[in-house]
Amino acid sequence: PPSTTLLGVRVDLLSQAETLSRIDQIVALHRNTTDIPCRQIVTVNTEFIITAQRNPLFRQCINQATLVVPDGMGVVWGTRYKGEPAPERVTGTDTLAALAPLCAEKGYRLYLLGAAPGVAEATARILQQKHPGLIIAGTYAGSPAPAEEEDILARIREAKADILCVAYGAPAQELWISRNLSRLPVAVAMGVGGAYDFLSG
Ligand code: UDP
Repeated sequence: PPSTTLLGVRVDLLSQAETLSRIDQIVALHRNTTDIPCRQIVTVNTEFIITAQRNPLFRQCINQATLVVPDGMGVVWGTRYKGEPAPERVTGTDTLAALAPLCAEKGYRLYLLGAAPGVAEATARILQQKHPGLIIAGTYAGSPAPAEEEDILARIREAKADILCVAYGAPAQELWISRNLSRLPVAVAMGVGGAYDFLSG
């Protein structure tokens, strides 16, 4: 996608609808072709850009992601100031809310990882009530601790999910996805921050 950089951090100039359609393409391709690695989606807000200044690993992880969407008006303003404007803000919460009907329509299986115990389950119930037919492949709080990775990867594998949302806060969730990318048996993985808390609260 067309992109710009803000303080060395890539931002793709995508709208919410374009983001959704790209996710749809990635999942459809993944379902038809074996052995495609998982793609990472990052929703960059101003805090991400600040954190990335002193965390090179985080910056690298953002810049190498398949999609880096402008999460918040601060980032949208930054791109306008650079003369390469992002069309609108694309937040993790809005993207998850928009993914739910797409998943329901296409039969894509959604896995909700992270947040406090019970929160992903409450989010799953709310999304399923709103979008009949939505398949939640699994939910699990867990933690971003490396000692839990094997167990979490096994759960996701067992669930046969297509799309993985991870709510461990930034930068933990992005680094978790990035270091497990080659082993993640899903088409796309996206850090969603406090999205479950917003959607279920
Ligand atoms: N969280 C978690 N485990 C952790 C740290 C955070 O499950 O070790 C969850 C927390 O419960 C919340 C989400 O991560 O649901 C994101 O929190 P926050 O809103 O602080 O992140 P941000 O949206 O600012 O990235």
